[in-house]
Amino acid sequence: MKKKSKLILYTILLTILTACGAKEISQADYEIIPLPQKTEIVEGGAFVLNNSTVIVFPKGNAELERIARFLSEFIQFSTGKTLTVSDTKKDENTILLESELEHENKEAYTLNITNAGITINGASGAGVFYGIQTLRKSICADAEGKDILFPAVSIEDYPRFGYRGMHLDVGRHFFPVEFIKEYIDIMALHNMNKFHWHLTEDQGWRIEIKKYPELTAKGSIRKQTVIGRNSGKYDGKPYGGFYTQAEAKEIVQYAQDRFITVIPEIDLPGHMLGALTAYPNLGCTGGPYEVIGEWGVFDDVLCAGNEDIYTFLDNILSEIIEIFPSEYIHIGGDECPKGRWKECPKCQAKIKKENLKADKNHSAEDRLQSYVISRVEKMLNDKGRKIIGWDEILEGGLAPNATVMSWRGIEGAIAAAKEGHDAIMTPNSHLYFDYYQTTDIENVPLSIGGYIPLQKVYGFEPVPSNLSENEAKHIIGVQANLWTEYIPSTQQVEYMIMPRIDALSEVQWTMSDKKDYNSFLNRLFKMIKLYDRKGYNYSKSIFDINAETKSNSDKGVIELSLSTIDDAPVYYTLDGTTPNQKSNKYVETLSFSESVNVKAIAIRPNIQTPVYSQEFHINKATMKPIQLNVEPHRSYTFSGVSALVDGIQGNNNGYKDGSWIGFYNNDIEALIDLRETTGISEVEVGTYICTGDWIFGAESLTISVSDDGENYKIISAEKYPLSDNHTEEVKKIKTSFLPVNGRYIKIKIGKTNKLPAWHSGAGSPAFMFIDEIRVN
Ligand SMILES: [Zn+2]
Repeated sequence: MKKKSKLILYTILLTILTACGAKEISQADYEIIPLPQKTEIVEGGAFVLNNSTVIVFPKGNAELERIARFLSEFIQFSTGKTLTVSDTKKDENTILLESELEHENKEAYTLNITNAGITINGASGAGVFYGIQTLRKSICADAEGKDILFPAVSIEDYPRFGYRGMHLDVGRHFFPVEFIKEYIDIMALHNMNKFHWHLTEDQGWRIEIKKYPELTAKGSIRKQTVIGRNSGKYDGKPYGGFYTQAEAKEIVQYAQDRFITVIPEIDLPGHMLGALTAYPNLGCTGGPYEVIGEWGVFDDVLCAGNEDIYTFLDNILSEIIEIFPSEYIHIGGDECPKGRWKECPKCQAKIKKENLKADKNHSAEDRLQSYVISRVEKMLNDKGRKIIGWDEILEGGLAPNATVMSWRGIEGAIAAAKEGHDAIMTPNSHLYFDYYQTTDIENVPLSIGGYIPLQKVYGFEPVPSNLSENEAKHIIGVQANLWTEYIPSTQQVEYMIMPRIDALSEVQWTMSDKKDYNSFLNRLFKMIKLYDRKGYNYSKSIFDINAETKSNSDKGVIELSLSTIDDAPVYYTLDGTTPNQKSNKYVETLSFSESVNVKAIAIRPNIQTPVYSQEFHINKATMKPIQLNVEPHRSYTFSGVSALVDGIQGNNNGYKDGSWIGFYNNDIEALIDLRETTGISEVEVGTYICTGDWIFGAESLTISVSDDGENYKIISAEKYPLSDNHTEEVKKIKTSFLPVNGRYIKIKIGKTNKLPAWHSGAGSPAFMFIDEIRVN
């Protein structure tokens, strides 16, 4: 407390003289991303960085000299000052780099600032590098021409996870070498250390392999690309591109200089149409094949029964490991349909020869996939490398030393950790940066779908609570993935990753008990000034009005709070008209007990954000206490059960947009306490149907009421037909009856427990997504 008040006083004094924006001096602060583990403002005078400040590295230490030069460049970018880099120590006005810190975490560093100078001491070169990143981010991005005043501080810092990754798919769209370097720079700015480079795809093979020149000559070019979401219409333009081995080596070196390891991915045995087009004899049917110009999962894969593919893969991987020194090589293993293998005599002969037998969980073809992965793993293990594969490699038995990348939720990582294998969290529930980050989808570029806003990324906890301490050690890290079907340009890559990468970096680096979303937003506001200075095309949705609703069942009102990251003034209307500066100014939480149509706008000189718009429909169940007999599915709980009576109807942006709640196992029974005896004659429940994703509507609705909460009387029971073909829609089911009085109402919503015969999942249970329950 004492330290804090001193800091405040100190800050006020300095602000009078020197705040960011004053003429000659700019004050640094340590409000950075990712947040260091421990930042202590200490007694003593501040340090002033000026034109005579020298960056000193130990004589003969080339690594620290390189880092010193990076620091000099960063400082020049923010201040315009060109600081001298030297191996000769001075008594004062220095930034001293050392790597003598003793710490169990090799990426740890300390940063100490006194009036005499700044010392960054790392447990390794990487630690020093993170130290200089912290220092540069402490400086205002627009301190051009100014001296920098650093309050005295002591920072001790180290990362939570050893694997801190970002992925980039260059198969669907190709990005030039210069941009890959920018991507690496952005990763370095966020203390990340693994660049997962997805190099091969159905839509294009992107890495030169000298032994197989056709891979890039033919396999890197598709004739045309589909327009929109597999619309059936094509642009008619050939599309291609690949990296030569020399370019890839240049990128590896560029990354290595910034303590980032490039992990290449050669995706096998599926996603191989690029390779099959070049070498059709490697497929089950022999082709011809075509580098494909649409998105999805395709039937033609490598023929696992053909010995030639193993020679082919061995030769490719031999060249890959020459380019990439990474201990890990990613071998994909995802989304490999087994249809061709089922019908291929060679594949069936291989199954027989290797005695691969189906069991109750896995088909013989699943076991064949495991056979392929295990053989490839052995090739790489023999060359001194290890494999990472997508979580499908768990199916049919895990290769002995494999690390699993869990993308279809977190279950793959849990299963791997329980088997004693390392795992990396990249769940598509939280870390797929190709999903939308705003609900204002009409005004942003088309994306693959889904909805993962910044706060959701920030809230991700990588270590599931049901793992034991020993199992938890196998969760070695976290990564976000950027699939580029709908990301054709570098500007759009920037837009999709920033600022969600900031939230990710704190998930990766900062201990979970130190994370705080509001503090993060304040620090993010500082970071985006750096983005502005760099000219990055980050998503402006962080400036959108942030609305939080609460149904206050004690007061019987809905409460709505509106805020913006930069405290821009907000104006609103309640009657659905478009607000402007003459409308009511928002000053405190709004609360209402009647239906309203709220629209709100934030007014700023430069940045326009969409109008916030939300209708609240009040009915007899709104804001009343509600209980369910079952928990929602863990991946689809969103804001929880109260969403069913919060006055906001689920909308048609998709079932993952947070306004719906999903269930899998049982019929649902909702018990609502209307708080007093109430006359009712109608109940309505919204459902979201998306049959392609195994989500069906309700089959029945049964209503019973009670006065005492014990004896219930059924007053209505209705059945509803199942969808008889594929559809995606919002469907409201409703039942009306003669008016009755009651205080407690039980609403039983019958789920589809057997998918119909026409559906590919016939006989299995369906998901059900519901929202607003209306009682009138
Ligand atoms: Zn085959």
